[in-house]
Amino acid sequence: MDNDCLFCRIVAGEIPATVVHETDTTLAFRDIDPKATVHVLVIPKTHYADVVALAQDPAAAADVLAAAAAVAENDGLTAGGFRILFNTGAHAGQEVFHVHAHVLGGEPLGPMLAIR
Ligand code: 5GP
Ligand code: ZN
Repeated sequence: MDNDCLFCRIVAGEIPATVVHETDTTLAFRDIDPKATVHVLVIPKTHYADVVALAQDPAAAADVLAAAAAVAENDGLTAGGFRILFNTGAHAGQEVFHVHAHVLGGEPLGPMLAIR
């Protein structure tokens, strides 16, 4: 655990979150500032800074993806469709450097990128 990491502190129970799904290796909770009707963050409990670091641990990466799919199922997103994204680094505006999959849905999400 990284004591300076917001999402490690959520895993440790030091900061509250609305948890919607949990496994031995992952935690999923609602984004505090949702950008869509459904906006859930899925994280590995182990600290990896970004998806590049997560990809070095294929089992952990697979667990995050499976958890994201379970969240989409549980929140009823699979019929209408949804989006999973990993903001990575400065160009993507990553703000929290504990890797997290954004699961977004519940309404039409518009174009993939706002700037195109
Ligand atoms: P990023 O920009 O790093 O991809 O996304 C970080 C996300 O974390 C943002 O969507 C932001 O709203 C969310 N977030 C930041 N602080 C908190 C928090 O304390 N609790 C929760 N649930 N989400 C947070
Ligand atoms: Zn962390």
